[in-house]
Amino acid sequence: MLKSLVFGRVLFIGAHCDDIEIGCGGTAATFARKKKPVAFAIATPEDSQLIDNGASFMFSTNDFKDKELPSLRTKLTNTSLSEWLLGKFSNALRKQLVNAKADISSLKANLANELNAILSSEQIYTNERFAGTQLRAETQSLMSKPVGHSALLRLNRFLLGDAYIELMRYPERRRIEATKSAQVLGLSEADGTLFFGSFPDGELDLRYKELRDWFKYLDTHFKPDSVFLHRNDDHTDHQAIHKVGIGVFQTKNVFFYYIPRPSPETPFDSNYAEIVSGSIQDKVKMCACHESQPDDYVHEDTILTNAHYWYLRWYARLKPDKNGYAEPFIIRGWRPGYYGEPSRYSDSAETSIKYGLRVVREPDGTFTWEGG
Ligand SMILES: [Zn+2]
Repeated sequence: MLKSLVFGRVLFIGAHCDDIEIGCGGTAATFARKKKPVAFAIATPEDSQLIDNGASFMFSTNDFKDKELPSLRTKLTNTSLSEWLLGKFSNALRKQLVNAKADISSLKANLANELNAILSSEQIYTNERFAGTQLRAETQSLMSKPVGHSALLRLNRFLLGDAYIELMRYPERRRIEATKSAQVLGLSEADGTLFFGSFPDGELDLRYKELRDWFKYLDTHFKPDSVFLHRNDDHTDHQAIHKVGIGVFQTKNVFFYYIPRPSPETPFDSNYAEIVSGSIQDKVKMCACHESQPDDYVHEDTILTNAHYWYLRWYARLKPDKNGYAEPFIIRGWRPGYYGEPSRYSDSAETSIKYGLRVVREPDGTFTWEGG
């Protein structure tokens, strides 16, 4: 078995909700399964800032994603809440819902119009309609407050989102998806193994100072030995995590991970790859939690293809395996004269990585460090 260079308490940091899973989900799963201390930190858990006014809780045709329509259609004909909704819908919309050949853009427009009419007309909630629905804490807290028009819209929208994830507002969805995904590895906010920042998506490069403060908070609260950061790719949010992370975690064992993006992109030259064949299914399962995201990034085929590609590049000569999967990294181990040590909080007995050395792959496939 090839020895891993990851050790101690392992912190994974991502700018967006699915970055960690895509870049290093298999590595995270490997360590979490071995009951090693692992934590995820996501800087921008929401797609955009939630604007708390009535209008923003109305549906638009963009809220219905093509790939989700089939499951939404099935659900809208299947539960007691659905029966009630169907009773409110027009004949035309009911027909479109059961007709697989119905024009998609017309179906979306009708859905948005008719759901909006329901949202703003009455309280959707009754005990019976929501008997089988798990309501989120946010929804429950709204229910205990007096209901004005704007609050009614919001509450109704939350209720529909809880009943049908396809109808959930996107900014909230990402955080919920990320929470579900982290749960696959047993990580949670309550346990101090899942951290959400409160940065707006797309603005991390404008907030270095706050980002640095948040990283210091993570350092104090989780006390990592190994830290996974974005490589310096072409996304400004990723670049911010990379640059600020290098500074804050300079005495840690730092790995830069890779998120495949369509060409053109800055070339990625890995100096290490972690074999994740045993945990690739966890990675697939985590990525599947990010239902709102494009298949190009999180679909099973994408995950398996990319991970197999990296296995072939790194290990095909050494140990051919058609079910081999790997994740590539750049280890930052070039700081002359510095010797990183596991922190005293670490329960790892493994020796630390010596900085100022470089990674060398031996003929038998093991990695060692060589004096530079
Ligand atoms: Zn990202």
